[in-house]
Amino acid sequence: MFFVPSHSEPERRPAFTVMGMTTSASLPTGPEDAIAAPGSVTDRLVEANERYAAAFTDPGMDARPVLRVAVVACMDARLDLHDALGLELGDCHTIRNAGGVVTDDVIRSLTISQRALGTRSVVLIHHTGCGLESLTEEFRHDLEMEVGQRPAWAVEAFRDVDQDVRQSMQRVRTSPFLLHSDDVRGFVFDVKTGLLREIDPT
Ligand SMILES: [Zn+2]
Repeated sequence: MFFVPSHSEPERRPAFTVMGMTTSASLPTGPEDAIAAPGSVTDRLVEANERYAAAFTDPGMDARPVLRVAVVACMDARLDLHDALGLELGDCHTIRNAGGVVTDDVIRSLTISQRALGTRSVVLIHHTGCGLESLTEEFRHDLEMEVGQRPAWAVEAFRDVDQDVRQSMQRVRTSPFLLHSDDVRGFVFDVKTGLLREIDPT
């Protein structure tokens, strides 16, 4: 059996309320209880969506991000991009994956974001305590041993988060497909304080 992530107990998230009505799909109990509760997690999400839609009004905006910015970030559950950056609906593109790594597919999304939907700025966000810091490329080997097939993708594990942000900035800046690579900035989000720390590209 290969890598099993060790999780510290997540803090309970307060339910987000709109007009006194909860729209959160979270149960007020821990994740183990949530899994054991009757009905699937997805069912709860769909129910939360029904409440969301009941209070929703069409903002009448088009698909081009208002702030003309694309944010590439790790998928980490502790990183609420909109809250952390003061973003509102329609403001930006958010592109997320494990690690916030600038893969070919992220370049694909950024290319479409810039060329078809008018964004100009790119913000890259990694974070403290990322799961990719505890992985190595051995993950692929172990995977191959288990399933009999080696994945085509790299794990993109890293040891030094600052250096990985620099590499990500470099990948964006040097992509031949992007129209705008002059405003590319990278940060590390501290999951304990909520603060961003900017990384010097050099
Ligand atoms: Zn992460």
